[in-house]
Amino acid sequence: MAEDQVADFEVEEIEGAEAPPPLDPEVAERRRVALKQVHQYGDPVLRTKARPIDVFDDALRAEVARMGALMNDSLGIGLAATQVGVPHRLLVYRVEQGAPVNALVNPVIEFSSDEEEWAEEGCLSLPAVHVEVERPVFVRVHAKDEHGDEVVVEASGLEARVIQHEVDHLDGVLILDRTPKDQRKEAMRAMREALDAA
Ligand code: ZN
Repeated sequence: MAEDQVADFEVEEIEGAEAPPPLDPEVAERRRVALKQVHQYGDPVLRTKARPIDVFDDALRAEVARMGALMNDSLGIGLAATQVGVPHRLLVYRVEQGAPVNALVNPVIEFSSDEEEWAEEGCLSLPAVHVEVERPVFVRVHAKDEHGDEVVVEASGLEARVIQHEVDHLDGVLILDRTPKDQRKEAMRAMREALDAA
Protein backbone atom coordinates (compact mmCIF):
# COMPACT_ATOMS: atom_id res chain seq x y z
CA MET A 1 0.00 0.00 0.00
CA ALA A 2 1.47 3.30 -1.01
CA GLU A 3 2.11 5.97 1.53
CA ASP A 4 -0.86 8.03 2.47
CA GLN A 5 -2.97 6.36 -0.09
CA VAL A 6 -5.81 5.24 2.05
CA ALA A 7 -9.44 6.30 2.53
CA ASP A 8 -10.57 9.40 2.81
CA PHE A 9 -8.70 7.20 4.85
CA GLU A 10 -5.02 7.01 5.08
CA VAL A 11 -3.14 3.98 6.25
CA GLU A 12 0.20 5.62 6.50
CA GLU A 13 0.94 4.73 10.07
CA ILE A 14 0.11 1.10 10.40
CA GLU A 15 2.06 -0.29 13.26
CA GLY A 16 5.27 -1.90 12.20
CA ALA A 17 5.14 -0.36 8.74
CA GLU A 18 8.19 1.48 7.53
CA ALA A 19 8.00 5.26 7.63
CA PRO A 20 6.77 6.48 4.23
CA PRO A 21 9.13 8.49 2.03
CA PRO A 22 8.41 12.24 2.01
CA LEU A 23 5.95 13.37 -0.65
CA ASP A 24 7.16 15.11 -3.76
CA PRO A 25 6.73 18.87 -2.98
CA GLU A 26 4.34 19.39 -5.87
CA VAL A 27 2.17 16.46 -4.75
CA ALA A 28 2.29 17.69 -1.17
CA GLU A 29 1.20 21.18 -2.22
CA ARG A 30 -1.68 19.80 -4.31
CA ARG A 31 -2.73 17.75 -1.33
CA ARG A 32 -2.60 20.75 1.00
CA VAL A 33 -4.80 22.79 -1.34
CA ALA A 34 -7.27 19.90 -1.79
CA LEU A 35 -7.54 19.29 1.94
CA LYS A 36 -8.60 22.91 2.45
CA GLN A 37 -11.80 22.02 0.61
CA VAL A 38 -12.53 19.08 2.86
CA HIS A 39 -14.61 20.05 5.90
CA GLN A 40 -12.82 19.31 9.12
CA TYR A 41 -13.85 17.99 12.51
CA GLY A 42 -16.09 20.41 14.35
CA ASP A 43 -18.01 21.40 11.23
CA PRO A 44 -21.66 20.43 11.86
CA VAL A 45 -22.07 19.17 8.27
CA LEU A 46 -20.00 16.14 9.28
CA ARG A 47 -22.70 15.23 11.79
CA THR A 48 -25.55 15.69 9.32
CA LYS A 49 -27.59 12.78 8.04
CA ALA A 50 -27.44 13.30 4.29
CA ARG A 51 -30.60 13.34 2.14
CA PRO A 52 -31.29 10.96 -0.74
CA ILE A 53 -30.62 12.19 -4.27
CA ASP A 54 -33.46 12.07 -6.77
CA VAL A 55 -32.11 14.11 -9.68
CA PHE A 56 -29.42 12.56 -11.89
CA ASP A 57 -28.32 15.47 -14.00
CA ASP A 58 -25.17 17.10 -15.33
CA ALA A 59 -24.75 18.96 -12.04
CA LEU A 60 -24.55 15.64 -10.19
CA ARG A 61 -22.04 14.24 -12.68
CA ALA A 62 -19.95 17.40 -12.37
CA GLU A 63 -20.00 16.98 -8.62
CA VAL A 64 -18.81 13.38 -8.97
CA ALA A 65 -15.94 14.55 -11.20
CA ARG A 66 -15.04 17.30 -8.72
CA MET A 67 -15.09 14.93 -5.78
CA GLY A 68 -13.02 12.37 -7.67
CA ALA A 69 -10.38 15.00 -8.44
CA LEU A 70 -10.38 16.18 -4.84
CA MET A 71 -10.00 12.60 -3.62
CA ASN A 72 -7.05 12.07 -5.97
CA ASP A 73 -5.32 15.30 -5.05
CA SER A 74 -5.73 14.65 -1.36
CA LEU A 75 -4.36 11.12 -1.83
CA GLY A 76 -7.49 9.58 -0.40
CA ILE A 77 -9.27 6.45 -1.54
CA GLY A 78 -12.78 7.59 -0.65
CA LEU A 79 -14.76 10.77 -0.10
CA ALA A 80 -18.34 11.44 0.98
CA ALA A 81 -20.36 14.46 -0.19
CA THR A 82 -20.90 15.61 3.39
CA GLN A 83 -17.14 16.07 3.65
CA VAL A 84 -17.28 18.71 0.95
CA GLY A 85 -20.27 20.35 2.60
CA VAL A 86 -23.01 18.85 0.45
CA PRO A 87 -25.47 16.92 2.61
CA HIS A 88 -26.76 14.42 0.08
CA ARG A 89 -26.12 10.73 -0.32
CA LEU A 90 -23.18 10.48 -2.68
CA LEU A 91 -19.78 8.93 -2.17
CA VAL A 92 -16.82 8.27 -4.42
CA TYR A 93 -14.04 5.76 -3.90
CA ARG A 94 -11.22 4.03 -5.67
CA VAL A 95 -9.18 1.37 -3.99
CA GLU A 96 -6.87 0.51 -6.89
CA GLN A 97 -4.52 3.24 -8.00
CA GLY A 98 -5.18 4.24 -11.60
CA ALA A 99 -8.61 2.57 -11.73
CA PRO A 100 -11.68 4.69 -12.58
CA VAL A 101 -13.42 6.45 -9.71
CA ASN A 102 -16.58 4.69 -8.50
CA ALA A 103 -19.55 6.83 -7.54
CA LEU A 104 -22.35 5.44 -5.38
CA VAL A 105 -25.56 7.42 -5.06
CA ASN A 106 -28.02 6.58 -2.28
CA PRO A 107 -25.95 3.55 -1.21
CA VAL A 108 -27.67 1.00 1.02
CA ILE A 109 -25.72 -1.78 2.67
CA GLU A 110 -28.11 -4.68 2.28
CA PHE A 111 -25.82 -7.38 3.59
CA SER A 112 -22.87 -7.36 5.99
CA SER A 113 -20.95 -10.49 6.93
CA ASP A 114 -20.87 -11.73 10.50
CA GLU A 115 -17.14 -12.00 10.08
CA GLU A 116 -15.49 -8.77 11.12
CA GLU A 117 -11.94 -7.55 11.28
CA TRP A 118 -10.00 -4.71 12.84
CA ALA A 119 -7.86 -2.35 10.78
CA GLU A 120 -6.46 1.11 11.17
CA GLU A 121 -8.30 3.93 9.45
CA GLY A 122 -7.68 7.61 8.97
CA CYS A 123 -10.03 10.27 7.63
CA LEU A 124 -9.47 13.36 5.51
CA SER A 125 -11.77 15.26 7.91
CA LEU A 126 -9.86 14.19 11.03
CA PRO A 127 -6.25 15.36 10.82
CA ALA A 128 -3.68 13.16 12.54
CA VAL A 129 -6.28 10.56 13.53
CA HIS A 130 -5.42 6.91 12.96
CA VAL A 131 -7.56 4.52 14.91
CA GLU A 132 -8.55 0.89 14.80
CA VAL A 133 -12.05 0.18 13.60
CA GLU A 134 -13.78 -3.19 13.50
CA ARG A 135 -15.99 -3.74 10.48
CA PRO A 136 -17.64 -6.57 8.57
CA VAL A 137 -15.22 -8.09 6.05
CA PHE A 138 -17.81 -8.44 3.31
CA VAL A 139 -20.71 -6.23 2.26
CA ARG A 140 -23.23 -6.08 -0.53
CA VAL A 141 -24.33 -2.57 -1.41
CA HIS A 142 -27.24 -1.47 -3.52
CA ALA A 143 -26.92 2.00 -5.06
CA LYS A 144 -27.26 4.02 -8.23
CA ASP A 145 -24.45 5.41 -10.30
CA GLU A 146 -24.23 9.05 -11.39
CA HIS A 147 -26.46 8.28 -14.40
CA GLY A 148 -29.23 6.83 -12.27
CA ASP A 149 -28.50 3.22 -13.21
CA GLU A 150 -28.81 0.58 -10.50
CA VAL A 151 -25.58 -0.90 -9.25
CA VAL A 152 -24.86 -3.71 -6.85
CA VAL A 153 -21.37 -3.87 -5.38
CA GLU A 154 -20.09 -6.95 -3.62
CA ALA A 155 -17.00 -5.87 -1.80
CA SER A 156 -14.55 -7.37 0.63
CA GLY A 157 -11.46 -6.27 2.51
CA LEU A 158 -10.30 -2.72 1.88
CA GLU A 159 -13.06 -1.96 -0.65
CA ALA A 160 -15.73 -3.05 1.83
CA ARG A 161 -14.05 -1.00 4.53
CA VAL A 162 -13.90 2.19 2.44
CA ILE A 163 -17.55 1.90 1.43
CA GLN A 164 -18.62 1.41 5.04
CA HIS A 165 -16.47 4.35 6.16
CA GLU A 166 -18.07 6.62 3.55
CA VAL A 167 -21.63 5.40 4.18
CA ASP A 168 -21.00 6.22 7.84
CA HIS A 169 -20.17 9.79 6.77
CA LEU A 170 -23.54 10.02 5.03
CA ASP A 171 -25.14 9.16 8.36
CA GLY A 172 -23.03 11.64 10.31
CA VAL A 173 -20.91 8.88 11.85
CA LEU A 174 -17.13 9.25 12.21
CA ILE A 175 -14.43 6.68 12.96
CA LEU A 176 -14.03 8.27 16.38
CA ASP A 177 -17.48 6.89 17.19
CA ARG A 178 -16.37 3.38 16.33
CA THR A 179 -13.01 3.07 18.00
CA PRO A 180 -12.20 1.86 21.52
CA LYS A 181 -12.31 4.58 24.16
CA ASP A 182 -8.59 4.62 24.92
CA GLN A 183 -7.72 5.13 21.25
CA ARG A 184 -10.39 7.79 20.88
CA LYS A 185 -8.93 9.84 23.70
CA GLU A 186 -5.43 9.72 22.25
CA ALA A 187 -6.76 10.48 18.74
CA MET A 188 -8.71 13.51 19.97
CA ARG A 189 -5.56 14.88 21.57
CA ALA A 190 -3.48 14.41 18.40
CA MET A 191 -6.25 15.93 16.28
CA ARG A 192 -6.63 19.03 18.49
CA GLU A 193 -2.89 19.62 18.19
CA ALA A 194 -3.04 19.23 14.43
CA LEU A 195 -6.06 21.55 14.14
CA ASP A 196 -4.38 24.16 16.34
CA ALA A 197 -1.23 23.99 14.23
CA ALA A 198 -3.15 24.37 10.96
ZN1 ZN B 1 -13.66 9.87 6.51
